Amino acid sequence: MSMLKDLPDANGYFGTYGGRFVPETLIGPLDELASEYAAARDNGEFQIELERLLREYVGRPTPLYFARRLTEKLGGARIYLKREDLLHTGAHKINNALGQALLARRMGKRRIIAETGAGQHGVATATVSALFGLECVIYMGAVDMERQALNVARMRFLGAEVRGVSAGQATLKEAINEAMRDWVTNVRDTHYILGSALGAHPYPMMVRDFHRVIGLEARHQILEREGKLPELLVACVGGGSNAMGLFHPFLDDGTVQMIGVEAGGDGIMPGRHAARFQGGRLGVLQGTKTYLLADSDGQIELTHSVSAGLDYAAIGPEHANLRELGRINYSFATDTEALDAFRLLSEVEGIIPALETAHAVAEVVKRAPTMPPESSIIVNLSGRGDKDVQQAAVFCGVNTGL
Ligand SMILES: *Cc1c(COP(=O)(O)O)cnc(C)c1O
Repeated sequence: MSMLKDLPDANGYFGTYGGRFVPETLIGPLDELASEYAAARDNGEFQIELERLLREYVGRPTPLYFARRLTEKLGGARIYLKREDLLHTGAHKINNALGQALLARRMGKRRIIAETGAGQHGVATATVSALFGLECVIYMGAVDMERQALNVARMRFLGAEVRGVSAGQATLKEAINEAMRDWVTNVRDTHYILGSALGAHPYPMMVRDFHRVIGLEARHQILEREGKLPELLVACVGGGSNAMGLFHPFLDDGTVQMIGVEAGGDGIMPGRHAARFQGGRLGVLQGTKTYLLADSDGQIELTHSVSAGLDYAAIGPEHANLRELGRINYSFATDTEALDAFRLLSEVEGIIPALETAHAVAEVVKRAPTMPPESSIIVNLSGRGDKDVQQAAVFCGVNTGL
Protein backbone atom coordinates (compact mmCIF):
# COMPACT_ATOMS: atom_id res chain seq x y z
CA MET A 1 0.00 0.00 0.00
CA SER A 2 2.82 2.43 0.72
CA MET A 3 3.30 2.63 -3.06
CA LEU A 4 0.18 4.82 -3.17
CA LYS A 5 1.78 7.44 -0.98
CA ASP A 6 4.96 7.44 -3.07
CA LEU A 7 3.23 8.53 -6.28
CA PRO A 8 3.63 10.24 -8.68
CA ASP A 9 6.46 8.53 -10.58
CA ALA A 10 9.40 10.51 -12.00
CA ASN A 11 7.31 11.61 -15.00
CA GLY A 12 4.48 12.88 -12.85
CA TYR A 13 2.10 9.96 -13.35
CA PHE A 14 -0.33 8.66 -10.76
CA GLY A 15 -0.97 5.30 -12.42
CA THR A 16 -2.11 6.33 -15.91
CA TYR A 17 -3.18 9.85 -14.85
CA GLY A 18 -1.26 13.10 -14.65
CA GLY A 19 1.92 13.77 -16.64
CA ARG A 20 2.80 16.94 -18.54
CA PHE A 21 0.73 18.03 -21.52
CA VAL A 22 2.10 21.51 -22.17
CA PRO A 23 3.72 23.51 -24.98
CA GLU A 24 7.43 22.81 -25.54
CA THR A 25 8.38 26.19 -24.03
CA LEU A 26 7.08 25.15 -20.60
CA ILE A 27 9.03 21.90 -20.28
CA GLY A 28 12.21 23.70 -19.19
CA PRO A 29 10.47 25.86 -16.56
CA LEU A 30 8.57 22.84 -15.20
CA ASP A 31 11.83 20.88 -14.96
CA GLU A 32 13.44 23.78 -13.12
CA LEU A 33 10.45 24.02 -10.76
CA ALA A 34 10.52 20.28 -10.07
CA SER A 35 14.20 20.27 -9.17
CA GLU A 36 14.00 23.48 -7.09
CA TYR A 37 11.03 22.03 -5.24
CA ALA A 38 12.86 18.75 -4.59
CA ALA A 39 15.80 20.70 -3.19
CA ALA A 40 13.57 22.90 -0.99
CA ARG A 41 11.68 19.88 0.34
CA ASP A 42 14.94 18.39 1.62
CA ASN A 43 16.28 21.69 2.91
CA GLY A 44 16.10 22.19 6.67
CA GLU A 45 16.14 25.98 6.54
CA PHE A 46 13.28 26.08 4.03
CA GLN A 47 11.17 23.72 6.14
CA ILE A 48 11.89 25.63 9.35
CA GLU A 49 10.84 28.93 7.81
CA LEU A 50 7.71 27.36 6.30
CA GLU A 51 6.77 25.89 9.67
CA ARG A 52 7.41 29.16 11.46
CA LEU A 53 5.20 31.14 9.07
CA LEU A 54 2.46 28.49 9.15
CA ARG A 55 2.43 28.84 12.91
CA GLU A 56 2.88 32.59 13.40
CA TYR A 57 1.28 34.06 10.29
CA VAL A 58 -1.20 31.50 8.95
CA GLY A 59 -2.47 30.21 12.31
CA ARG A 60 -1.52 26.52 12.41
CA PRO A 61 -2.20 24.08 13.86
CA THR A 62 -5.94 24.41 13.29
CA PRO A 63 -8.22 22.84 15.91
CA LEU A 64 -9.93 19.50 15.45
CA TYR A 65 -13.32 20.36 16.89
CA PHE A 66 -15.83 17.79 18.13
CA ALA A 67 -19.22 18.92 16.78
CA ARG A 68 -21.36 17.76 19.69
CA ARG A 69 -24.68 19.28 18.67
CA LEU A 70 -24.36 18.19 15.04
CA THR A 71 -23.49 14.67 16.23
CA GLU A 72 -26.53 14.59 18.54
CA LYS A 73 -28.80 16.00 15.85
CA LEU A 74 -27.78 13.49 13.17
CA GLY A 75 -27.34 10.48 15.49
CA GLY A 76 -24.61 7.94 14.74
CA ALA A 77 -20.91 8.61 14.21
CA ARG A 78 -19.04 11.22 16.24
CA ILE A 79 -18.34 14.17 13.92
CA TYR A 80 -15.11 16.15 14.06
CA LEU A 81 -14.45 19.31 12.06
CA LYS A 82 -10.89 20.09 10.91
CA ARG A 83 -11.01 23.87 11.17
CA GLU A 84 -9.16 25.14 8.08
CA ASP A 85 -11.81 27.88 8.01
CA LEU A 86 -9.95 29.50 10.92
CA LEU A 87 -6.77 30.09 8.91
CA HIS A 88 -5.64 33.58 7.87
CA THR A 89 -7.67 34.61 4.78
CA GLY A 90 -10.40 32.07 5.62
CA ALA A 91 -9.58 28.85 3.80
CA HIS A 92 -6.98 26.12 3.34
CA LYS A 93 -5.61 27.78 0.19
CA ILE A 94 -2.95 29.75 2.06
CA ASN A 95 -1.03 26.56 3.03
CA ASN A 96 -0.10 26.11 -0.62
CA ALA A 97 0.19 29.80 -1.53
CA LEU A 98 2.69 30.35 1.28
CA GLY A 99 4.75 27.30 0.36
CA GLN A 100 4.97 28.29 -3.30
CA ALA A 101 5.75 31.94 -2.49
CA LEU A 102 8.67 30.81 -0.33
CA LEU A 103 9.78 28.62 -3.22
CA ALA A 104 9.49 31.54 -5.68
CA ARG A 105 11.66 33.68 -3.43
CA ARG A 106 14.22 30.87 -3.20
CA MET A 107 14.25 30.69 -7.03
CA GLY A 108 14.80 34.46 -7.24
CA LYS A 109 11.49 35.17 -9.00
CA ARG A 110 10.19 38.67 -8.31
CA ARG A 111 6.78 38.38 -9.95
CA ILE A 112 3.86 36.10 -8.96
CA ILE A 113 0.86 35.20 -11.09
CA ALA A 114 -2.15 33.04 -10.23
CA GLU A 115 -5.62 32.12 -11.40
CA THR A 116 -8.63 32.20 -9.13
CA GLY A 117 -12.22 30.94 -9.23
CA ALA A 118 -14.05 31.85 -6.03
CA GLY A 119 -11.29 34.35 -5.32
CA GLN A 120 -9.96 32.49 -2.26
CA HIS A 121 -6.76 31.41 -4.00
CA GLY A 122 -6.33 34.90 -5.43
CA VAL A 123 -6.67 36.41 -1.97
CA ALA A 124 -4.23 33.88 -0.48
CA THR A 125 -1.71 34.58 -3.27
CA ALA A 126 -2.09 38.36 -3.01
CA THR A 127 -1.59 38.01 0.75
CA VAL A 128 1.68 36.07 0.59
CA SER A 129 2.92 38.33 -2.23
CA ALA A 130 2.38 41.32 0.05
CA LEU A 131 4.14 39.44 2.85
CA PHE A 132 7.27 38.95 0.73
CA GLY A 133 7.05 42.19 -1.27
CA LEU A 134 6.51 40.43 -4.62
CA GLU A 135 4.64 41.87 -7.60
CA CYS A 136 1.34 40.03 -8.05
CA VAL A 137 -1.10 39.61 -10.96
CA ILE A 138 -4.29 37.56 -10.54
CA TYR A 139 -6.35 36.25 -13.47
CA MET A 140 -10.06 35.83 -12.79
CA GLY A 141 -13.09 35.09 -14.97
CA ALA A 142 -15.38 38.08 -15.47
CA VAL A 143 -18.38 36.06 -14.26
CA ASP A 144 -16.53 35.04 -11.09
CA MET A 145 -15.46 38.66 -10.49
CA GLU A 146 -19.13 39.56 -10.34
CA ARG A 147 -20.05 36.60 -8.08
CA GLN A 148 -17.14 37.30 -5.73
CA ALA A 149 -16.82 41.09 -5.73
CA LEU A 150 -15.71 41.16 -2.09
CA ASN A 151 -12.66 39.00 -2.86
CA VAL A 152 -11.78 41.22 -5.85
CA ALA A 153 -11.71 44.20 -3.51
CA ARG A 154 -9.59 42.29 -0.98
CA MET A 155 -6.99 41.40 -3.65
CA ARG A 156 -6.78 45.03 -4.76
CA PHE A 157 -6.30 46.26 -1.19
CA LEU A 158 -3.51 43.70 -0.86
CA GLY A 159 -1.75 45.36 -3.76
CA ALA A 160 -2.47 42.80 -6.49
CA GLU A 161 -3.55 43.61 -10.00
CA VAL A 162 -6.72 41.67 -10.88
CA ARG A 163 -7.09 40.99 -14.60
CA GLY A 164 -10.60 40.02 -15.73
CA VAL A 165 -10.93 37.29 -18.38
CA SER A 166 -14.05 37.41 -20.52
CA ALA A 167 -13.32 34.58 -23.01
CA GLY A 168 -15.59 31.49 -23.11
CA GLN A 169 -17.55 30.82 -19.93
CA ALA A 170 -15.48 33.56 -18.21
CA THR A 171 -14.79 31.39 -15.15
CA LEU A 172 -11.86 29.40 -13.77
CA LYS A 173 -10.88 27.45 -16.90
CA GLU A 174 -10.39 30.62 -18.92
CA ALA A 175 -8.49 32.25 -16.05
CA ILE A 176 -6.05 29.30 -16.02
CA ASN A 177 -5.54 29.63 -19.79
CA GLU A 178 -4.59 33.29 -19.39
CA ALA A 179 -2.27 32.58 -16.48
CA MET A 180 -0.48 29.87 -18.52
CA ARG A 181 -0.12 32.30 -21.42
CA ASP A 182 1.40 34.89 -19.10
CA TRP A 183 3.79 32.30 -17.65
CA VAL A 184 5.04 31.20 -21.08
CA THR A 185 5.83 34.84 -21.91
CA ASN A 186 7.38 35.92 -18.60
CA VAL A 187 8.81 32.73 -17.18
CA ARG A 188 12.27 34.22 -16.56
CA ASP A 189 11.16 36.40 -13.63
CA THR A 190 7.69 34.96 -12.91
CA HIS A 191 6.42 32.06 -10.79
CA TYR A 192 2.93 30.72 -11.40
CA ILE A 193 1.24 29.74 -8.11
CA LEU A 194 -1.34 27.19 -9.27
CA GLY A 195 -4.13 26.94 -6.71
CA SER A 196 -5.19 23.29 -6.69
CA ALA A 197 -3.83 19.77 -7.13
CA LEU A 198 -4.10 20.18 -10.90
CA GLY A 199 -2.02 21.03 -13.94
CA ALA A 200 1.27 19.64 -15.23
CA HIS A 201 3.84 17.84 -13.07
CA PRO A 202 5.13 18.83 -10.49
CA TYR A 203 2.07 20.92 -9.53
CA PRO A 204 -0.36 18.17 -8.40
CA MET A 205 2.32 16.65 -6.17
CA MET A 206 3.68 19.94 -4.88
CA VAL A 207 0.27 21.44 -4.06
CA ARG A 208 -0.73 18.22 -2.29
CA ASP A 209 2.48 18.22 -0.27
CA PHE A 210 1.93 21.78 0.96
CA HIS A 211 -1.55 20.74 2.18
CA ARG A 212 -0.49 17.43 3.81
CA VAL A 213 -0.09 19.34 7.05
CA ILE A 214 -3.91 19.18 7.34
CA GLY A 215 -3.98 15.38 7.46
CA LEU A 216 -0.80 15.09 9.55
CA GLU A 217 -2.28 17.34 12.23
CA ALA A 218 -5.71 15.68 12.05
CA ARG A 219 -4.21 12.19 12.40
CA HIS A 220 -2.31 13.23 15.54
CA GLN A 221 -5.32 15.10 16.98
CA ILE A 222 -7.87 12.31 16.49
CA LEU A 223 -5.54 9.72 18.03
CA GLU A 224 -5.20 11.99 21.03
CA ARG A 225 -8.97 12.51 21.35
CA GLU A 226 -10.40 9.11 20.40
CA GLY A 227 -7.45 6.80 20.95
CA LYS A 228 -8.04 5.33 17.49
CA LEU A 229 -8.20 6.31 13.85
CA PRO A 230 -11.48 7.60 12.39
CA GLU A 231 -13.72 5.34 10.31
CA LEU A 232 -14.32 7.99 7.67
CA LEU A 233 -12.78 11.14 6.18
CA VAL A 234 -14.90 13.51 4.10
CA ALA A 235 -13.85 16.50 2.00
CA CYS A 236 -15.23 18.46 -0.93
CA VAL A 237 -13.38 18.17 -4.24
CA GLY A 238 -12.93 20.99 -6.71
CA GLY A 239 -9.45 20.45 -8.15
CA GLY A 240 -8.90 18.32 -5.09
CA SER A 241 -6.28 20.05 -2.92
CA ASN A 242 -8.03 20.24 0.46
CA ALA A 243 -9.19 16.63 0.05
CA MET A 244 -5.70 15.32 -0.87
CA GLY A 245 -4.22 17.31 2.01
CA LEU A 246 -6.48 15.56 4.51
CA PHE A 247 -6.52 12.11 2.87
CA HIS A 248 -2.89 11.58 1.90
CA PRO A 249 -1.40 10.89 5.36
CA PHE A 250 -4.14 8.24 5.91
CA LEU A 251 -3.74 6.37 2.59
CA ASP A 252 -1.87 3.46 4.19
CA ASP A 253 -4.46 3.09 6.97
CA GLY A 254 -6.66 0.45 5.40
CA THR A 255 -9.49 0.83 7.95
CA VAL A 256 -10.00 4.51 7.18
CA GLN A 257 -12.57 5.11 4.45
CA MET A 258 -12.52 8.32 2.44
CA ILE A 259 -15.17 10.14 0.44
CA GLY A 260 -14.57 13.04 -1.91
CA VAL A 261 -17.65 15.11 -2.62
CA GLU A 262 -18.11 16.79 -5.99
CA ALA A 263 -20.58 19.48 -7.01
CA GLY A 264 -23.86 18.01 -8.25
CA GLY A 265 -25.27 21.42 -9.21
CA ASP A 266 -28.87 21.12 -10.40
CA GLY A 267 -28.47 17.35 -10.84
CA ILE A 268 -26.37 15.13 -13.11
CA MET A 269 -27.38 16.48 -16.53
CA PRO A 270 -24.85 17.73 -19.12
CA GLY A 271 -23.94 21.35 -18.41
CA ARG A 272 -25.74 21.49 -15.06
CA HIS A 273 -23.13 20.12 -12.65
CA ALA A 274 -19.37 19.78 -12.03
CA ALA A 275 -19.16 16.13 -10.86
CA ARG A 276 -16.41 14.75 -13.09
CA PHE A 277 -16.80 11.17 -11.84
CA GLN A 278 -20.52 11.26 -12.70
CA GLY A 279 -20.72 11.28 -16.48
CA GLY A 280 -17.14 12.42 -17.01
CA ARG A 281 -14.52 10.82 -19.28
CA LEU A 282 -10.76 10.49 -19.62
CA GLY A 283 -9.12 13.42 -21.35
CA VAL A 284 -6.45 16.12 -21.18
CA LEU A 285 -7.09 19.58 -19.83
CA GLN A 286 -4.64 22.30 -18.88
CA GLY A 287 -1.55 20.15 -18.67
CA THR A 288 -2.82 16.94 -17.12
CA LYS A 289 -4.50 13.69 -18.15
CA THR A 290 -7.48 13.05 -15.93
CA TYR A 291 -11.27 12.78 -15.65
CA LEU A 292 -13.14 15.70 -17.11
CA LEU A 293 -16.52 16.77 -18.37
CA ALA A 294 -16.51 16.75 -22.17
CA ASP A 295 -18.88 15.74 -24.96
CA SER A 296 -18.19 12.88 -27.40
CA ASP A 297 -16.16 15.24 -29.66
CA GLY A 298 -13.90 16.11 -26.73
CA GLN A 299 -15.38 19.60 -26.35
CA ILE A 300 -15.26 20.68 -22.70
CA GLU A 301 -18.80 20.89 -21.33
CA LEU A 302 -20.23 23.84 -19.46
CA THR A 303 -20.22 23.32 -15.71
CA HIS A 304 -22.46 24.62 -12.98
CA SER A 305 -22.28 24.81 -9.21
CA VAL A 306 -23.61 27.22 -6.61
CA SER A 307 -20.01 27.32 -5.33
CA ALA A 308 -17.45 28.93 -7.63
CA GLY A 309 -14.65 26.94 -6.01
CA LEU A 310 -16.03 23.57 -7.18
CA ASP A 311 -17.09 24.80 -10.62
CA TYR A 312 -14.34 23.31 -12.83
CA ALA A 313 -14.43 20.72 -15.62
CA ALA A 314 -11.46 18.58 -14.50
CA ILE A 315 -10.39 16.85 -11.29
CA GLY A 316 -6.83 16.39 -10.00
CA PRO A 317 -5.09 13.31 -11.49
CA GLU A 318 -4.25 11.72 -8.13
CA HIS A 319 -7.97 11.52 -7.37
CA ALA A 320 -8.61 9.77 -10.71
CA ASN A 321 -6.02 7.14 -9.79
CA LEU A 322 -7.21 6.62 -6.21
CA ARG A 323 -10.76 6.23 -7.43
CA GLU A 324 -9.72 3.70 -10.06
CA LEU A 325 -7.86 1.71 -7.38
CA GLY A 326 -10.94 1.83 -5.13
CA ARG A 327 -9.03 3.55 -2.31
CA ILE A 328 -11.26 6.64 -2.29
CA ASN A 329 -14.98 6.79 -3.05
CA TYR A 330 -16.63 9.81 -4.63
CA SER A 331 -20.13 11.15 -4.32
CA PHE A 332 -21.79 14.46 -5.03
CA ALA A 333 -24.08 16.96 -3.35
CA THR A 334 -26.53 19.12 -5.27
CA ASP A 335 -26.80 22.89 -4.83
CA THR A 336 -29.92 22.37 -2.71
CA GLU A 337 -28.27 19.77 -0.46
CA ALA A 338 -25.24 22.04 -0.02
CA LEU A 339 -27.42 25.03 0.90
CA ASP A 340 -29.35 22.91 3.42
CA ALA A 341 -26.05 21.83 4.98
CA PHE A 342 -24.83 25.45 4.97
CA ARG A 343 -27.85 26.41 7.07
CA LEU A 344 -27.66 23.36 9.30
CA LEU A 345 -24.02 23.88 10.35
CA SER A 346 -24.64 27.58 10.88
CA GLU A 347 -27.67 26.99 13.11
CA VAL A 348 -26.47 23.96 15.04
CA GLU A 349 -22.77 24.74 15.54
CA GLY A 350 -22.51 28.49 15.02
CA ILE A 351 -20.10 27.94 12.12
CA ILE A 352 -20.98 29.37 8.69
CA PRO A 353 -19.08 27.22 6.16
CA ALA A 354 -18.04 28.15 2.63
CA LEU A 355 -20.50 26.84 0.04
CA GLU A 356 -17.74 24.53 -1.24
CA THR A 357 -17.30 23.12 2.26
CA ALA A 358 -21.08 22.74 2.66
CA HIS A 359 -20.94 19.99 0.00
CA ALA A 360 -18.77 17.91 2.37
CA VAL A 361 -21.11 18.63 5.28
CA ALA A 362 -24.04 17.45 3.11
CA GLU A 363 -22.32 14.07 2.71
CA VAL A 364 -21.84 13.83 6.48
CA VAL A 365 -25.57 14.47 6.92
CA LYS A 366 -26.23 11.39 4.75
CA ARG A 367 -23.50 9.17 6.24
CA ALA A 368 -23.29 9.83 9.98
CA PRO A 369 -26.73 8.37 10.87
CA THR A 370 -25.83 5.07 9.13
CA MET A 371 -22.69 4.61 11.29
CA PRO A 372 -22.40 3.27 14.88
CA PRO A 373 -22.03 5.79 17.75
CA GLU A 374 -18.52 4.58 18.65
CA SER A 375 -17.26 5.43 15.14
CA SER A 376 -15.94 8.83 14.11
CA ILE A 377 -15.80 11.03 11.03
CA ILE A 378 -13.41 13.86 10.24
CA VAL A 379 -14.77 16.39 7.78
CA ASN A 380 -12.42 18.97 6.34
CA LEU A 381 -13.93 22.39 6.99
CA SER A 382 -12.00 23.86 4.06
CA GLY A 383 -13.21 27.45 4.39
CA ARG A 384 -15.54 29.91 6.06
CA GLY A 385 -18.69 31.26 4.50
CA ASP A 386 -18.39 35.02 4.85
CA LYS A 387 -17.77 35.36 1.11
CA ASP A 388 -20.95 33.39 0.34
CA VAL A 389 -23.45 34.92 2.72
CA GLN A 390 -24.97 37.32 0.23
CA GLN A 391 -25.39 34.64 -2.45
CA ALA A 392 -26.80 32.12 0.02
CA ALA A 393 -29.27 34.72 1.28
CA VAL A 394 -30.61 35.19 -2.25
CA PHE A 395 -30.97 31.41 -2.77
CA CYS A 396 -32.53 30.76 0.64
CA GLY A 397 -34.80 33.82 0.56
CA VAL A 398 -33.26 35.23 3.76
CA ASN A 399 -33.93 38.93 4.21
CA THR A 400 -30.63 40.81 4.54
CA GLY A 401 -32.16 44.25 4.37
CA LEU A 402 -29.79 45.06 1.49
C1 LIG B 1 -11.00 26.56 -3.53
C2 LIG B 1 -11.80 25.94 -2.46
C3 LIG B 1 -12.22 24.59 -2.52
C4 LIG B 1 -11.94 23.71 -3.71
O1 LIG B 1 -10.61 23.52 -4.04
P1 LIG B 1 -9.84 22.16 -3.75
O2 LIG B 1 -8.56 22.34 -4.47
O3 LIG B 1 -10.67 21.05 -4.29
O4 LIG B 1 -9.67 22.05 -2.29
C5 LIG B 1 -12.90 24.06 -1.46
N1 LIG B 1 -13.21 24.82 -0.37
C6 LIG B 1 -12.85 26.11 -0.28
C7 LIG B 1 -13.23 26.89 0.93
C8 LIG B 1 -12.14 26.72 -1.31
O5 LIG B 1 -11.79 28.00 -1.21
